[in-house]
Amino acid sequence: LNEFDLIRRYFTPPTRHTVLAGGDDAALIAVRPEMEVAVSTDALVSGQHFFAEAEPRAIGYKSLAVNLSDLAAMGAIPRWATLSLTLPDADPVWLERFSEGFLSIAQDHDVDLIGGDTTRGALTVCVTIIGEVEAGRALRRSGARPGDELWVSGTIGDAALAVAHLRGDLVLQPAERAGAMQRLDYPQPRVKLGRGLLELATSCIDISDGLVADVGHLGECSGVHISIELDALPRSALALRYCDHPIGRRAVLAGGDDYELAFTAPAAHRSSLEALAGRGVALTCVGRVEPGSGVSVVDRSGVPMILAETGFDHFR
Ligand SMILES: [Mg+2]
Repeated sequence: LNEFDLIRRYFTPPTRHTVLAGGDDAALIAVRPEMEVAVSTDALVSGQHFFAEAEPRAIGYKSLAVNLSDLAAMGAIPRWATLSLTLPDADPVWLERFSEGFLSIAQDHDVDLIGGDTTRGALTVCVTIIGEVEAGRALRRSGARPGDELWVSGTIGDAALAVAHLRGDLVLQPAERAGAMQRLDYPQPRVKLGRGLLELATSCIDISDGLVADVGHLGECSGVHISIELDALPRSALALRYCDHPIGRRAVLAGGDDYELAFTAPAAHRSSLEALAGRGVALTCVGRVEPGSGVSVVDRSGVPMILAETGFDHFR
């Protein structure tokens, strides 16, 4: 299987809104007027971002899902993606399942795969996502203002509990494990929610490094202090079971991989947000924006917690 056969066989799905995809030196896309182009890249490295023995279908799915999540956090519409794959060998079974995972979520979000590259080496998946957002309207990290409330979508902590289980730090029961692994392997990028927040949120980020770290980015970029209420954080039944366990607490505050959205909005938008939640994913108010800097987490007695490990940094 040479490089061209490999691309032809596994990575040439029909495109739906692309001028020219593949077969030339570059792809051509037509961008609609009045729109800005949103671009984001993420590399997933075996052993760093996923376990070497992870399901190839899940690796394919997740490599695009995490990129879609970045566009969701900008309120952008995903449109095109490129895929660069570094592989130790061209194993047809692995490739078949990887491409199945990648192309199924691409189809779900109407994203055209328009190009890429394959090389030999340690397994690395690099995806670039390209999307569109109405000019001047994208959600940024920098718009939070004192008086705004902090919100989180869905539930958080399950993906980190799955990681704790895989690392042997915690033993989950089979039924618990299945749900947590699903959250880790098949995160749901909140693209539709991001679009719904364009009118409502003042700042937004996707939770990929951990709640405290990512909310910290909102605070830093906006020049404000953000206070998080520990007991208000939305948790699944599983995460609730571990809420007083140090690993469970760490999962909800510092666990990455949930790919939910954290955003701020003026209190006046509370009922609009509740209506938005009624039509899709749950939204929970978990804190507030104040003058100052940094992030604090207050426990049920209102006492600020001391935060040790607050997120994931590849270079720390
Ligand atoms: Mg992000």
